[in-house]
Amino acid sequence: MNCYDVEKLISAEEIAGKVRELGRRLSGMYVGKTLVVIPLLKGGAVFASDLIRCMDLDLQVEFIGAASYDEGTESSGEVRLTLDTSLPLNGRHVLLVEDIVDTGLTLAYIQKLIRSRKPASLRTVVLLDKRARRRVDVVVDEVVFSIPDRFVFGYGLDSPGGYHRNLADIVAVKD
Ligand code: 5GP
Repeated sequence: MNCYDVEKLISAEEIAGKVRELGRRLSGMYVGKTLVVIPLLKGGAVFASDLIRCMDLDLQVEFIGAASYDEGTESSGEVRLTLDTSLPLNGRHVLLVEDIVDTGLTLAYIQKLIRSRKPASLRTVVLLDKRARRRVDVVVDEVVFSIPDRFVFGYGLDSPGGYHRNLADIVAVKD
């Protein structure tokens, strides 16, 4: 990898094992129900695409997009919607899938938007939780990995400039 001095934080194998386990657990939670899975773009796309293939359920996929990071590693604190769902969510069971919760601002914004559409239920799963940096209270139902306050990328998360989402492992930039 050019440009960055990184170390592997979570391996592809470790991720795959935990995602399989989560998929099985979620399948049990929605037995007999039809689910709409909403990956939060762009970071949630890779996680969600693995997760849904570990779920034995009738489900649909919708996409929603938000952005708060520009080209750096610090959040501007301002969240904007970049893509909205195309189906009504009223009365549907919704599973929101996100790559990482950091300050919580992005999830809080998207959850509020989804709740305003009166879904039958809303559950949020995140791959990574950087709890130390939380600025707002946000409901996260399932966290796959808790991580320290370090900038990470890979497995759907980008490096500054929007690269490296295709790395199989999650790496952290060395301090
Ligand atoms: P929050 O709104 O919770 O502060 O941030 C959520 C968004 O910030 C995530 O969807 C992700 O795009 C980005 N983000 C937060 N921490 C990191 C990080 O360590 N690496 C990357 N690549 N993105 C991050």
